[in-house]
Amino acid sequence: MAANQPSNSLLHVGICGGGLGGLTTAIALRRAGVQVTVLEQAAELGDIGAGIQMTPNVSRLLIKWGVADLILKDLVEVEELNVRRFDGTKVGYTRMIPDVRKELNYPWWVVHRFHLHDALVRVASKLGASLLINSRATKIEYENQKKVTVTTALGQKHTFDFLIGADGLKSVVRQALFPKVNPKARTPNCAYRAIVPYSLILKDPIAAPLIKIPTMEVWMGDNSYIITYPISGSTEMNLVLSHHVDYPVTSPEPIAISVLQEQFKNYDPRIKRVVDMITESNRWPLLVTGPLESWSSKEKNVVLIGDAAHSMVNHMAQGAATSMEDGAFLGRCIAQVVVGKITLEQAVKVYETERMPKAKFKQEISFLNGAIWHIPDGPVQKKRDDAMKGELVGRREDGSPNLYGDPKMMKLVYGYDAEEHADLALKRFLKGEPRIDDSDELDKETEELFRKWSVGEMEVSAKL
Ligand SMILES: Cc1cc2nc3c(=O)[nH]c(=O)nc-3n(C[C@H](O)[C@H](O)[C@H](O)COP(=O)(O)OP(=O)(O)OC[C@H]3O[C@@H](n4cnc5c(N)ncnc54)[C@H](O)[C@@H]3O)c2cc1C
Repeated sequence: MAANQPSNSLLHVGICGGGLGGLTTAIALRRAGVQVTVLEQAAELGDIGAGIQMTPNVSRLLIKWGVADLILKDLVEVEELNVRRFDGTKVGYTRMIPDVRKELNYPWWVVHRFHLHDALVRVASKLGASLLINSRATKIEYENQKKVTVTTALGQKHTFDFLIGADGLKSVVRQALFPKVNPKARTPNCAYRAIVPYSLILKDPIAAPLIKIPTMEVWMGDNSYIITYPISGSTEMNLVLSHHVDYPVTSPEPIAISVLQEQFKNYDPRIKRVVDMITESNRWPLLVTGPLESWSSKEKNVVLIGDAAHSMVNHMAQGAATSMEDGAFLGRCIAQVVVGKITLEQAVKVYETERMPKAKFKQEISFLNGAIWHIPDGPVQKKRDDAMKGELVGRREDGSPNLYGDPKMMKLVYGYDAEEHADLALKRFLKGEPRIDDSDELDKETEELFRKWSVGEMEVSAKL
């Protein structure tokens, strides 16, 4: 069915949560030809004031679905990734343009969340999704019945043939399905987020060289790191400052800027100058959900996607991306329901069977990258840095601890195509062929890397 053709399908899907995952799913489902209603608790559609990486595994969706076209002037494609020690010494390097671009065929974009969210809203609305604000779901009735009824805080009732829980970390939908599951801070690792205008940085002769061209920069310190990249059409710098406290952080906390500045005072003077320009920030939790045993109700009338199902630490920039992949994958499955090839129950089965191992892998690899970026000075850090040094003279080899640029890891994580995966999985399912189980292989890959970077040593020296 044409993307903007109004659906005559009787199937009505509700999506609880209008975040990046929920909106992507709304677009994917409208493309599949079903009626879509998104219930969003906020009084306005939007996202938090921070940047986000849209890696090639999702930039491909943004291009294909016409989302990118709406915000081309705001999107920035990074040209280089520089991996540094905390003092600024460069130890790893990836040429994003042209190497990564050529290998993966899609841009590695960085963008302000507000711009991305706004474009997703516009495309979802144009395709005919109904987006309802002030609609906080408080009660989900789904047991022993075919349809699902959602009651909102304002007392409105919505009945759907199928409900998707895209309501994030504190998901009410997940609580209805699996009340005992609680996202946890596995470690006391947390992060500050901040945005500094380029106009300020340009005035500082020490910091200004950092923004000469669009680059992503990582400074790895003792159980802390800073990652920066440009957003808003290269007019602002986004910073994520990872660190540890001595308690598990479970919700965003206000902080005194002096605390943040003190924590990063020994960093490279160039980035230190930018850190000193930060005027406000919060300490963000890095909560992990699951891995769960199931993402769906027994009746197969409710499924979870995104952070509601599998929140992960941020170190591979894959939380929202994985949520968006879930939506794209589900879209292809539901399209087969619309044309009568499979049932909703079968669509859920294919979705869970294929996507659950992928999300688990991303959770693991995100932890691993956190461990790599947090290694304190010492023999393991030297081993890590030594293993990347070929990159400084233009070599790219499998097994680099620079996971963003490691050719093998890049293909697995950033080269993945959720829609292609769904199509292949559905084809196999329709032919009655068993699933190609690559989850063990992925786990082996992760294990191999853990071994390579002496996880034993790393566990004692770096807090994950
Ligand atoms: C420091 C940091 C950096 C990150 N960087 C990246 C990155 O570069 N790339 C990346 O891909 N990911 C990144 N992430 C992860 C990413 O932010 C999340 O994984 C992503 O926002 C999850 O999307 P979601 O749509 O599943 O959930 P959410 O973004 O949490 O959206 C949930 C939506 O549901 C709504 N909602 C909640 N409860 C209800 C209810 N009861 N009824 C109705 N609506 C409800 C909320 O208001 C919200 O709009 C980062 C995370 C952190 C902490």
